[in-house]
Amino acid sequence: MVDYDKGLAEVADGVWAWLQPDGGWGWSNAGLVTDGGASLLVDTLFDLRLTGEMLDAMRRAIPAAARIGTVVNTHANGDHCYGNQLVAGADIVASSTAAEEMRRTPAATLAGLVAAAPGLGDVGAYLQRIFGSFQFEGITDVYPTRTFDGALDLTVGDTPVRLLELGPAHTGGDVVVEVPSRRVVFTGDLLFIGGHPIVWAGPVSHWVEALDRILAMDVDAVVPGHGPITDKAGVRELRAYFVELEEAARPLWQDGLSPLEAARRLRIERAAGWGEAERLVVNVAACFRGFAGGSGTDGADVMTLFSDMAALAGG
Ligand SMILES: [Zn+2]
Repeated sequence: MVDYDKGLAEVADGVWAWLQPDGGWGWSNAGLVTDGGASLLVDTLFDLRLTGEMLDAMRRAIPAAARIGTVVNTHANGDHCYGNQLVAGADIVASSTAAEEMRRTPAATLAGLVAAAPGLGDVGAYLQRIFGSFQFEGITDVYPTRTFDGALDLTVGDTPVRLLELGPAHTGGDVVVEVPSRRVVFTGDLLFIGGHPIVWAGPVSHWVEALDRILAMDVDAVVPGHGPITDKAGVRELRAYFVELEEAARPLWQDGLSPLEAARRLRIERAAGWGEAERLVVNVAACFRGFAGGSGTDGADVMTLFSDMAALAGG
């Protein structure tokens, strides 16, 4: 875990990050790009309380946040879009794949999961531990009003903002938001700092390619989806993690181990101090799907993955 402050941080002239330590499950980052009176919000947060707190802080500190014209959801995980209800007047932009994924996991799904958790044994206790701090009841799902495939160029005032779809990797429809003139990129969950990444979709090789695309950008500041602001060194570190993981996982797959057995045996030295170590089993499962010639989420069952993570986390 890395120590960093909660709240607004100015990343470049008129470009802000909203950071939520410790960056673990659900504690995601967001961003605001401004030019004159215009603003674009990168992601909302996991529930209405957190999103409202962020929007209030932005409006107090940044005049352009008074009326947010555009919201980009970097991907479909709820900690990046369940707060959309509070910016419902804005244009809400996502990749078309992410928009489809959002409809498959409405906030009511998580509310139901948390409500059922007390009867679900070890996995239920784990779900309560990682999601119990958030309030999913009563959220109205607000979906993107505009979708795209590949790339989309927007402007905020006179400032160009480029959306690039780099998934499937973390999820099917991952998008990064680059502000070339300010030398900043918001990566969504293609980058975690201080915690393990989680490969919901994959393949892992495609995530590595996505990180290469980010490394090729002419940027100084990199705002991850979780964790403190970083630069390209942070991107290179995650790339090295995935390369090391695939190398280490392959012989265990050849030996016929299950993802859980393999994850118990694996040790990724560079990730020794990272949070959410139980995600290793999900990432190993993604490697195994790739070795078997599969791609995307073929064969990945989310409840099995949570059960395996609960087992690896030790309750
Ligand atoms: Zn995510």
